[in-house]
Amino acid sequence: MSEDSLLDDALVRLDEAAAHLSIDPDVIEKLKFARETTKVRLMIRMDDGSRKSFIAWRCRYDDTRGPTKGGIRFHPDANVEEVETLAFWMTFKCAVMNLPYGGGKGAVQVDPRQLSKAELERLSRAYIQAFARTVGPDRDIPAPDVYTNSMIMGWMADEYAQIVGQAEPAVITGKPIALGGSLGRGDATARGGYYLVRHLAGELGLGETLRVAVQGFGNAGQHIARLLAADGHKVVAVSDSEGGVYSAAGLHVDMLIEAKTQGRSVVSTVGQGGHEALAGDALVGVDCDLLVPSALENMIHGKNAGGVKAKLVLELANGPVTPSGDRILADKGVVVLPDILANAGGVTVSYFEWVQNKQGYYWTEQEIHDRLQAIMEREGRAVWNVSKEKDVSMRTAAYVHALGRLAEAIEAHGTQSFFTS
Ligand code: GLU
Repeated sequence: MSEDSLLDDALVRLDEAAAHLSIDPDVIEKLKFARETTKVRLMIRMDDGSRKSFIAWRCRYDDTRGPTKGGIRFHPDANVEEVETLAFWMTFKCAVMNLPYGGGKGAVQVDPRQLSKAELERLSRAYIQAFARTVGPDRDIPAPDVYTNSMIMGWMADEYAQIVGQAEPAVITGKPIALGGSLGRGDATARGGYYLVRHLAGELGLGETLRVAVQGFGNAGQHIARLLAADGHKVVAVSDSEGGVYSAAGLHVDMLIEAKTQGRSVVSTVGQGGHEALAGDALVGVDCDLLVPSALENMIHGKNAGGVKAKLVLELANGPVTPSGDRILADKGVVVLPDILANAGGVTVSYFEWVQNKQGYYWTEQEIHDRLQAIMEREGRAVWNVSKEKDVSMRTAAYVHALGRLAEAIEAHGTQSFFTS
């Protein structure tokens, strides 16, 4: 199987899981295609008075288990195949966690760093205008993804409220707290992965103090570094799109987060506090116990997986390991905690946000943490058990676990719905 096609690579995992369950082949066929993907052109006015067009998509991949759920990505390389693949992963992620959602995803092909704040706001509002009939609190619920954040979700929630003529906070998650956002959503992706590693540490044979390498230092990367360092683990290497830093004695995580907050690369800390320069592509092969890919897809592949020295990979990014990368890691005995489980803390707290919006009653941060921990441990344990019972990787086990739930729901809808939707 080639590594060029992201969706084909993703579907390999579906076939691998299906081989371990006796499922109607029509169910698998249904899950191989997106239910609907819409492409639009957004045209906005730039600050200099000119107009500019951007291509945007929203994919509702599968809504068998509930309204479709998934983030909106702003990225110059965004494309329809990536959107559909990310929506496919959301379908399985929500099923792994038993959240009452299907999977969706959206994107705008744009480099948001090239836009002023006012232009970014106009683009975000234009997205909701274009997809006002696609999204909805019980239909399709967006959230942040790569290069989108709570400020953008706030503008989108406001635009939707203006269109429908009333506040409708449950239409989008990851909002600012002032607009009905949830406490604990900011670090939820990393925190979920952190709870998972802590819960399975004994089974995974992890030592007391882990040496950790984090690839990508955005929302997920910064928070996982902070959470692990606070527990006494050593973050020895970190990278972002401009390069990496290394320190065998442990990097100063606060200094790295401060640099990012000021809009600088982690590379700007080289020479301070014992931070040494590291080529960005060398991070995957750094000597460490835990490798945390927290950037984009296809970062660990057939050509660099052989160099991985970590015993454990925690996928906070979506799709960071290709199928051939997976096979090499498995042969080396490296355990991979797969994206659809490992980074599901984000969508789980999005679910809490949606529940709080619907009930109009808000939980404390501690309640959010406790509920997230309980779900991560429950589903992490269930996936671990499947992997032992069937003697398969944690990735295949997560797909088996999710596919069982999806198949049950597809069949429960009835065959007439099955063939017409
Ligand atoms: N974009 C995140 C993900 O890939 C969060 C999605 C959500 O909260 O709906 O899981």
